[in-house]
Amino acid sequence: MARDTGAKCRQCRREGMKLFLKGERCVGPKCAMERRPVVPGQHGLMRRKEKEYGTQLREKQKVKRAYGVLERQFRKTYEEAVRLKGVTGENLLSLLERRLDNVVYRMGIGSSRAEARQIVSHRHITVNGKSVNIASYLTKKGDVIAIKENKKDLEMFKELKNQKMVFPKWLEFNGAKLSGVILDLPQRDDIDLNIQENLIIELYSR
Ligand code: SF4
Repeated sequence: MARDTGAKCRQCRREGMKLFLKGERCVGPKCAMERRPVVPGQHGLMRRKEKEYGTQLREKQKVKRAYGVLERQFRKTYEEAVRLKGVTGENLLSLLERRLDNVVYRMGIGSSRAEARQIVSHRHITVNGKSVNIASYLTKKGDVIAIKENKKDLEMFKELKNQKMVFPKWLEFNGAKLSGVILDLPQRDDIDLNIQENLIIELYSR
C-alpha cells in the first residue's frame, strides 16, 4: 500500500508539532522539533498567515500523518464517523485510535505507529486468538490483542516483559503474557493529540 514516505521529522516540522513518528528518538534530545522547530524550506523562519481553508487543511494533515493514514482511507473513516451517533470529530479520532496498528502502538508493542503497522502486517499479532494482518482492522471493546504464540520468543519482544509503560485507561497490556485487552472505547479525553478536530469536519463539509 502506498505511504507518505517523506522524511518523518520534516512532517513534524511542517505541522509545527511532534507527531511521534520515529519511536525513541522522538522523546530524546535528537528530535528535530527540539533542535529546529521551524517549517522546512528556504522560508521556514518566515511567519505564515494561514487562511481558513489552510488552517483546516493543516489540522487534517496533522491527524493523517500522526496515524499514518492516506487520504482515501482517512475519508472512509470520516464517512464512518458521520454515520455514528455523537460528535463527528470525536468519532473520527476514536475510530483512528481503534485501528489495530494504533492499539499495538499504544500497548507498547511497537515504538512508533509505523513499527506497529509492520508488526501487524508481518502476522505477529492475533485478535481474539485469530491472526490478523490488517493494520486498519477496527478493534472493539473486549477484544484480546496478543503476540502470536510462536513469535513470543522473538528478540524484538523480549523487552516487553519488563516494560514499565503508562497505558491509556481504555486498554491494558500484560507483559508477562504478552497480551492485552481493550477495556473500553477511547473517548476524546483519552487521546493525547493537540488538534482541533472540528476544523477537519468543517473542511470535509465544504
Ligand atoms: Fe517528529 Fe521529533 Fe519524532 Fe522526528 S524525532 S518524527 S521531529 S517527534
